[in-house]
Amino acid sequence: FEGMTIFELAKRTGASIRSLQEIIANVGERVLSEFDPLSIDIAELVSMEVGVNVRRLHLDEGAVLQPRPAVVTVMGHVDHGKTSLLDALRQTSVAAKEAGGITQHLGAFVVDMPSGSLITFLDTPGHAAFSAMRARGAAVTDIVVLVVAADDGVMQQTLEAMSHAQAAGVPIVVAINKCDKPAADPERVKMQLGAEGLLLEDLGGDVQVVEVSAKSKVGLDKLEEALLLQAEMMDLKSRIDGPAQAYVVEARLDRGRGPLATAIVKSGTLICGQYIVAGAEWGRIRAIRDMLGMTTTSGKPAMPVEIEGLKGLPMAGDDVVVVNTEERARMLSHGRKKKLEKDRLLKASEERTENEDISE
Ligand code: GDP
Ligand code: MG
Repeated sequence: FEGMTIFELAKRTGASIRSLQEIIANVGERVLSEFDPLSIDIAELVSMEVGVNVRRLHLDEGAVLQPRPAVVTVMGHVDHGKTSLLDALRQTSVAAKEAGGITQHLGAFVVDMPSGSLITFLDTPGHAAFSAMRARGAAVTDIVVLVVAADDGVMQQTLEAMSHAQAAGVPIVVAINKCDKPAADPERVKMQLGAEGLLLEDLGGDVQVVEVSAKSKVGLDKLEEALLLQAEMMDLKSRIDGPAQAYVVEARLDRGRGPLATAIVKSGTLICGQYIVAGAEWGRIRAIRDMLGMTTTSGKPAMPVEIEGLKGLPMAGDDVVVVNTEERARMLSHGRKKKLEKDRLLKASEERTENEDISE
């Protein structure tokens, strides 16, 4: 890349000159004319960032796609039973039962049904997590379970969750929860949702509705069946071979093991020993664990895995990419950190300006 110009890089990568200049500006470098030679490190960083995007398209283009489980997020109004429902669903997992339960909190879990079908649930309820991930462009959720308490009915955050899902183009399956309660009135909930424009199947639409009780553990199998049916209609498939692309769901610091990131693989296979960049952090994968805490050598599409070996904590929604060498991992991480820092300073100065405007 030595001495290459933006013009040449654009020609080679198919990226626009503007987008390349943006990447350079983002790492805090002066944007040169497109005909000035770039320093080797900047040229490499730019082509890597572009390459990440270009490769993403190339890898999936023409690849053999295989069916994969759906990734599901549970949303709804506070206290309507999101956490309870996730707990109840988690307990329906056959493997977890055999292992004596899921001991660790990963931010995601897989339910394996007796039929052998799998559903991956993001264990981060609430639309805050959903929005945070979406803001980073992480289209990680395939289906939203909209939880509505049968006694309370449709509330403010029910509607917010509904519009979040609709804005993201993610199909909804409604779970009317707390149906064990004497005051439960599922029919009223359906009317309310219908009035809000949700096309429920009871009313001739295609949004499935299931009545459940997270407390009495009733209707959970029906909900899982509804999710499988929805997934089947969506014909979810991913490339399995080749380098993985994944999204971070959650990250935490473990005293002994260092930074741990839970990620969901979107396509390809994540393999132990690979160099990765997760958001602005990099590392070499030292261990991969599944949701039961068992070490495994690889992670496949729609499977949550816990990655050990990153140097720092990435954020929910960050993408994970595989790079060939440590040097590249370091460089990409460094470039992205610079960009984050620049964005942070920009935001701070904007806020300062706003405050000044107010005080004037
Ligand atoms: P979240 O805020 O949506 O996560 O709601 P939680 O799962 O924390 O539940 C809020 C309250 O509703 C708790 O006191 C739960 O025990 C209760 N709850 C959740 N699901 C049910 C249910 O199916 N039936 C009844 N009776 N109570 C429930
Ligand atoms: Mg909760």
